[in-house]
Amino acid sequence: MKKRILVTGGTGYIGSHTVVELIENDYEVVIIDNLYNSDAETAKRIGKITGTTPHLEVFDLCDGKKLNKFLDKTENISAIIHFAAFKAVGESVNKPLDYYRNNLISLMNLLDAMIVHQIPSIVFSSSCTVYGQPEKLPVTEHTPIQPAISPYGNTKQIGEEIISDTISANHGLKAISLRYFNPIGAHPSGLIGELPRGVPENLVPFITQTAIGIRNELQVFGNDYNTPDGSCIRDYLHVVDLAKAHVAAVDRLTGDKNKKRYEVFNLGTGKGVSVFEAIESFERVSGVKLKYRITNRRPGDIEKIWADPSLANREMGWKTVYSLDEAMRSAWKWEKSIRKII
Ligand code: NAD
Repeated sequence: MKKRILVTGGTGYIGSHTVVELIENDYEVVIIDNLYNSDAETAKRIGKITGTTPHLEVFDLCDGKKLNKFLDKTENISAIIHFAAFKAVGESVNKPLDYYRNNLISLMNLLDAMIVHQIPSIVFSSSCTVYGQPEKLPVTEHTPIQPAISPYGNTKQIGEEIISDTISANHGLKAISLRYFNPIGAHPSGLIGELPRGVPENLVPFITQTAIGIRNELQVFGNDYNTPDGSCIRDYLHVVDLAKAHVAAVDRLTGDKNKKRYEVFNLGTGKGVSVFEAIESFERVSGVKLKYRITNRRPGDIEKIWADPSLANREMGWKTVYSLDEAMRSAWKWEKSIRKII
């Protein structure tokens, strides 16, 4: 019998790619999503890619009663992957209560439900934002956590603490927190990808939207950082690689291969890429010359960060395989397909 995985936020960007990989690795998937930042059509598109349309249940995870009712009739869940959250750093500064409420109440409702419904394990979407600007690079899982600079980042830190405390107190439960570096790109089919609302906060959707003409120009926030070309450096990983890490995490938890009941892994390529290098990569694979302008530094941006992913490489047998160019190519294919140009 296939193992059943509950994926919250499964019609979202990273969630939808993970659902594809889970189905292709013989898991059965049920999705809960309130479609706040995604579309029900995505479940059908997952069906087109994999041949299996996952079951999508539409409700808000902050509604604990609905969650329990759903779990009363959905038995034998082997693990939860919890993607559902608000994720816009800038917006979180203006709407902190919305972020704390949505991101933390949904998590606590799920943890309560795991105890009541005997769901043994959970994978949590965390972020490299927990490290702030580290003194030493690359970042390992032992790099000190820094005070969060945004309410969004704080929900990830507090979320990890809530999980760790809950695992300590409930011996039947186990968890893995995955600290993502910067996911980019889209499924090679061009059927699923990132759908940012409004003006994108992240570099790659901003690049593709500028290239296609939705934005006049790309703003490069600062070229006076202490980096080789003066622009910020991040560790960009292909979303399909990131999705596969979730399959590895679920294999580890459901196959009892975890070494501790609560584990944390960094997920990145191990390579830092500057804004200018990202622009060059995009121009190379798309053949489009980007119009960009250098502006002031953006408040809250750190200078440089990249991962040491060796723990995930060693323990989960996972590593990134896609290049930056491949990720850019897929992002461009996705942008063109959603704007119905091809
Ligand atoms: P996304 O917005 O595309 O997906 C999140 C999904 O969760 C959406 O479909 C949304 O409708 C749903 N959702 C939100 N609140 C909900 C609620 N209360 N009940 C039910 N559904 C709800 O985001 P994403 O980029 O796929 O990110 C997934 C996770 O990864 C998030 O937890 C995010 O914080 C984390 N993360 C993302 C990045 C990134 O750069 N994309 C980096 C680090 C961590």
